[in-house]
Amino acid sequence: MKVSVLDNCVGCGACAIINSDVFEMQGNKAVVNTNKIEQTQDLCIDAAITCPVNAIKIDEY
Ligand code: SF4
Repeated sequence: MKVSVLDNCVGCGACAIINSDVFEMQGNKAVVNTNKIEQTQDLCIDAAITCPVNAIKIDEY
């Protein structure tokens, strides 16, 4: 699974609360820690569903 945060992130912080292993706030944008994606795939999907602006893109390999 590939997870990325798009430029339209508004920095709400929701993804970092849902899955702090993968999403981290840097300033007013979320960034992705790719090391923990495989272990937390369900939470990555939860974060993507919750994101208010659909800024989390998930691609299945
Ligand atoms: S939930 Fe969406 S808008 Fe909020 S910080 Fe994460 S990527 Fe950005």
